[in-house]
Amino acid sequence: MRRGERLWAVVPAAGRGERFGGRRPKQYIPLLGRPVLSWSLSALLAEPAIRAIVVALSDGDRRFARLPEASNPRVRTCRGGVRRELSVASALEALAGDARDADWVLVHDAARPCLQLEDLRALVSAVGNDPVGGLLAAPVGDTLKAEGRDRRSDRTVPREGLWRALTPQMFRYGVLRRALRLSIERERAVTDEASAVEALGLRPRLVPGRPDNLKITLPGDCGLAAAIITTRGRSANRPRLRRPRI
Ligand code: C5P
Repeated sequence: MRRGERLWAVVPAAGRGERFGGRRPKQYIPLLGRPVLSWSLSALLAEPAIRAIVVALSDGDRRFARLPEASNPRVRTCRGGVRRELSVASALEALAGDARDADWVLVHDAARPCLQLEDLRALVSAVGNDPVGGLLAAPVGDTLKAEGRDRRSDRTVPREGLWRALTPQMFRYGVLRRALRLSIERERAVTDEASAVEALGLRPRLVPGRPDNLKITLPGDCGLAAAIITTRGRSANRPRLRRPRI
């Protein structure tokens, strides 16, 4: 990042998690004693370079205020929208007056609790001098099938050159605002910020990220996320083995 450019973050957390089902939205499912959103926010708060984080909430959300991160002075909230891009656009509006067009914004899913600080820093360092911006992503490892009728495989989609888009995604404030405004005007559904930026004719940089930065989508994902976080904690606390003296 150049001198004078600042870093902000946006967390869309206004979704209902329809694919997940259940009584509460997936960002509030308990994970090792804390809601998923609490993990996602603390992963961002671990980076002191982020000036403020705007969390987009659904109307009538009464759960957010109970999170410990809600009282952090770097955390703000705004009202989200009925689609993800509307929630992100609303959070960007909430930063107007503070953020300048040349500043950078990280957009991170509320439902991605396993983000590691080293990945966040790798993204900022790879993208901070890029003319377009970019995103964490992981190369596709599995063979891909295109579904036809009756849940049968019609064909195999070549996986070469295909990546899974993760978050955070990082773009300049001005570019992202323009990209989302255009997508909303044209009623083009976008599932991530990079696709809105691509629609401007720009090519976001793919920054390899850890594949275990998973998004909670289906009920089984919570167990997986818990295992990832627990294993990580164990290896961080593991005492260093002394080399035996020979
Ligand atoms: O549904 P999906 O997993 O794609 O949602 C990704 C993120 O976007 C989640 O953090 C969700 O809360 C957020 N979202 C939102 N507003 C919506 C829909 C989704 O903030 N209307």
